[in-house]
Amino acid sequence: SDKHRNRRRFLLKLSGEAFAGGGGLGVDPDVVHKVAREIAAVVRDGAEIAVVIGGGNFFRGAELQQRGMDRARSDYMGMLGTVMNCLALQDFLEKEGIDSRVQTAITMGQVAEPYIPLRAVRHLEKGRVVIFGAGMGMPYFSTDTTAAQRALEIDAEALLMGKNGVDGVYDSDPATNPDAVKFDALEYGEVIARELKVADATAITLCRDNRLPILVFELLAEGNIARAVKGEKIGTLVSD
Ligand code: UDP
Repeated sequence: SDKHRNRRRFLLKLSGEAFAGGGGLGVDPDVVHKVAREIAAVVRDGAEIAVVIGGGNFFRGAELQQRGMDRARSDYMGMLGTVMNCLALQDFLEKEGIDSRVQTAITMGQVAEPYIPLRAVRHLEKGRVVIFGAGMGMPYFSTDTTAAQRALEIDAEALLMGKNGVDGVYDSDPATNPDAVKFDALEYGEVIARELKVADATAITLCRDNRLPILVFELLAEGNIARAVKGEKIGTLVSD
């Protein structure tokens, strides 16, 4: 199918936290609307966009585990949380006149298609946005790892990681250290060796082993999704 490809394809990873807006928990429709508007613009411009959304605005498995819950069950709760984000994004994309499909790694036929990679690719080719929900359907994984895996399986050219409140990768936490220095570019090995907060190690090694570039950028800065798709110099680019 590669030789029929004429449009550029990207996997966009959206921070679940960003979806909460100022509220911290749940979904802020104003934020989702803004993100949907920006995705719609790049799709109208001809890009193929697949999306993975985090679930940090609902539950993180590791946090529930710390509070005494079984880890695997907590992780399933985390995965189910991501599906609510997917449905919210689908709704606002529809309002923008953009067709989309949600595909979940945990089957829930009333609200979404099951994850079927070849069908996802067909949707993309038809100009639909594909939103992958419920992570990989497996406890102990993250939506960052899911984003890397889905990007590889649908043959996206890059993983665009939209972060909440930070415009790239820094040598220390810019929220607590005013002298933190931002990287424009990084190699996978450096990210792993210095344990920089790009994504978890599983996600980074998957990208490294398959040479999938990662662009880390501020999700909610106006026009940033379009800049990321165009390859403008924003955020931090992780490659080899
Ligand atoms: N999760 C999982 N397997 C996956 C994807 C996600 O178990 O393949 C769970 C995990 O508990 C995680 C939660 O879903 O904490 C929300 O996902 P996300 O990656 O957003 O967590 P965050 O990055 O916000 O900690």
